Amino acid sequence: RQLTDINALCDEYLRLSYHGMRAKDKSFNADFELITEPDLPRISVVSQDVGRVLLNLINNAFYAVNVARASSPSFKPKVSVFTEKSDNQLIIKVKDNGGGMSDKVKAKIFQPFFTTKPTGQGTGLGLSLAYDIITKGHGGKIDVESAEGNGTTFTIRLPIATAPV
Ligand code: ADP
Ligand code: MG
Repeated sequence: RQLTDINALCDEYLRLSYHGMRAKDKSFNADFELITEPDLPRISVVSQDVGRVLLNLINNAFYAVNVARASSPSFKPKVSVFTEKSDNQLIIKVKDNGGGMSDKVKAKIFQPFFTTKPTGQGTGLGLSLAYDIITKGHGGKIDVESAEGNGTTFTIRLPIATAPV
C-alpha cells in the first residue's frame, strides 16, 4: 500500500480515458469534470489497484455516453467524477448521463465475464475485478445507481483509517 492522493488519480485517469476514446474514435467528444473535496486526506491503498478500478469505471462511463451520443445528435455527453470525505470514509463517485441499464443487466454487472458490449469491445472483467479490489482488497464498498435512459452513478467508499496489517 502507498499513501495515495485520490484526487490526483482521478484527474490522471479522467484525462487518460478521454484521450483514449478520442484516439479510438475521432468523432468522440464529451464534457467531463472533476469536482474534488480540496482537503481530501491521502489514504493508504494499493494505488495501482485502485487506479485500475477508477480507469475501468471512467472507461465504462465514456463508453456509455458515446453510445448515447451515436444514437442522438443533440445529446450532450457528460462524465463527472466527485470526491468527498464523510466521517472515516473517502467517497468517489463516477457519474455519466449515458443510457443507463435495466434492472436485469444491473443484477449481473459484478459477475466475471458479464458484458453487453460487442465481441472484442469488452471482457466483462472490469467490474468483477473492481468489486474484489474495493471489497476484499480494501475493506470498502462499491454500489451502482442506474436506470434505463437516466445515466449511471458508481459510488466507491474506502475506509480512511485502515486497520494496521
Ligand atoms: P466490460 O466493460 O468489459 O463490458 P465491465 O465489467 O466493466 O465489463 O462492465 C460490465 C457491463 O456493465 C457492461 O458491459 C455494461 O453492460 C454494464 N455497465 C458498466 N458500466 C456502465 C455504465 N456506466 N453505463 C451503462 N452500463 C454499464
Ligand atoms: Mg469495463
